[in-house]
Amino acid sequence: LKVVDNILKPVDRFLNSLTMYELVMWGLVSVLGVAALESLMGLTGYTALSIVTSSSVLVGAAVAAGWILWRLFGVASTRDSAIISGLILTLIMKPATTAMDYAWMALAAIIAMSSKYLVVIRDKQLFNPAAFALVVLGLAGYGASFWWVGSQSLLPVVLVLGLLVVHKIRRFHLFLPFLATGLITTFITRQGLTPASLISQTLISGPLLFMGTIMLVEPSTTPPTRTLRIAYGALVGVLTGLVFTVGPFYSTPELALIIGNIFAFAVNFKQRVRLHFRESQPVAADVYDFVFTPDRPFKFRPGQYLEWTLSHSHADSRGNRRYFTIASSPTEDVVRIGSRIDPQRSSSFKRALTALTPGATISATSLAGDFTLPSDPTGKLVFIAGGIGITPFRSIIKYLIDSHDHRDVTLFYTAQAADGFAYWQLFNDATAVGLKPHYVITGPNVPPGWQGLTGFLSADHITANVPDYKNATFFISGPNAMVVSYKHLLSDLGVPSGHVKTDYFPGY
Ligand SMILES: Cc1cc2nc3c(=O)[nH]c(=O)nc-3n(C[C@H](O)[C@H](O)[C@H](O)COP(=O)(O)OP(=O)(O)OC[C@H]3O[C@@H](n4cnc5c(N)ncnc54)[C@H](O)[C@@H]3O)c2cc1C
Repeated sequence: LKVVDNILKPVDRFLNSLTMYELVMWGLVSVLGVAALESLMGLTGYTALSIVTSSSVLVGAAVAAGWILWRLFGVASTRDSAIISGLILTLIMKPATTAMDYAWMALAAIIAMSSKYLVVIRDKQLFNPAAFALVVLGLAGYGASFWWVGSQSLLPVVLVLGLLVVHKIRRFHLFLPFLATGLITTFITRQGLTPASLISQTLISGPLLFMGTIMLVEPSTTPPTRTLRIAYGALVGVLTGLVFTVGPFYSTPELALIIGNIFAFAVNFKQRVRLHFRESQPVAADVYDFVFTPDRPFKFRPGQYLEWTLSHSHADSRGNRRYFTIASSPTEDVVRIGSRIDPQRSSSFKRALTALTPGATISATSLAGDFTLPSDPTGKLVFIAGGIGITPFRSIIKYLIDSHDHRDVTLFYTAQAADGFAYWQLFNDATAVGLKPHYVITGPNVPPGWQGLTGFLSADHITANVPDYKNATFFISGPNAMVVSYKHLLSDLGVPSGHVKTDYFPGY
């Protein structure tokens, strides 16, 4: 495991320096660059010029459509997501050679963008935009889309990009069931295939890899929990391998994805909550609580999160949606999120969040998360939090206090400096229900007289403060690098992996 981590460290550093949008966008540009070069060398059936002009029309039409939708309906469209939709369509639709081909492309881009902002229910996008556009085009007489990206010559670059995307977004549990069921179903339904021809026709030169790593994993159209995502991947895989006709629809990879999107939508928690901003409160250095009043009571388990949408003009490439843990407890009448606000450079989302005035509304959907209290109240628990990763523990601990639920809980809370600890008064109050809080300063500035721990959390810290740690269930929440390193620490201490639950906040 450590060898793999050492290999992955530089990869993770690289991936952390990019946003998801940047990775996907530049990755798709690279795939198209390779395709154009191969065309110049005569390795493909298309000209480099047709690839360049097709991508220009598709990307140009998608960006223009996004801008028009923004002017007409005020939807918060982002230019990067329009570019990505245009690039994905470029890699699927056969490079254009006639004026009619270009017209189909412009139409596809417009439909894709419209679906993103207009085919929505309760603020939630239903379909993968590119797949939706291709299905509509199929009905309108365009014919089957080509998926020319699924070719042997493009395999290496698609594979590298796909694996980077799936690794960054942590969705192998979605991609692999899709791949497995796609291959198995294809093998069963297409007669005369040998295992070797199956691999060459479906994996090396078919749509599976591109579709599974770039389109299937798109967060706004995937289910909220791991189990449901496995089911979603498996379903889309089966549908991709099947050959069927239903009315005007005949089986295509894009139709498989659209049907999967409907499944994902149906199983998702779709009850949208509208919340009214009440106030923001500084809770630690550069960390604020944003407090809201929901327009109706809603149920959640302490430790769960929501997908928050905050419409604002001039959204940057990170867009207008974020996942935030509900830092409040279900026992409170307000809903709070705790977030770090970078004083130097914040995203447009965080700037809009800090600019909210009392009464302003924000909406939230897709309640999810398994980082919640075990049902057995007698088990020993150890919480390890790094920085803003404290938010689920704030929710859980406040819940324990309010419901007088006495449990054996040790909290190790790490922060760079003494002023980085949020909610410490609450944690100190929670000693009454069994909480043993330990504050750990990881940075060099330790104030004189500091009574807590210092340095990175070590095996000694754990064994000294939790002697029977082998019987405990550990919860770790924080930045990815921290979560990974503490997982190793626990594994070296002999804590079984089944006793360790993790939560990490991508995005920093
Ligand atoms: C399940 C889950 C739960 C989460 N819970 C929480 C939570 O409780 N609290 C929380 O704070 N986060 C949480 N997150 C993470 C959250 O969704 C955001 O990804 C994170 O807060 C970063 O926000 P941001 O993109 O607005 O960037 P910011 O916080 O504004 O910035 C992060 C870094 O990116 C840089 N940056 C900002 N904008 C740009 C830009 N346009 N281009 C380049 N660099 C830029 C900044 O300088 C900064 O260093 C959670 C994520 C998940 C998946």
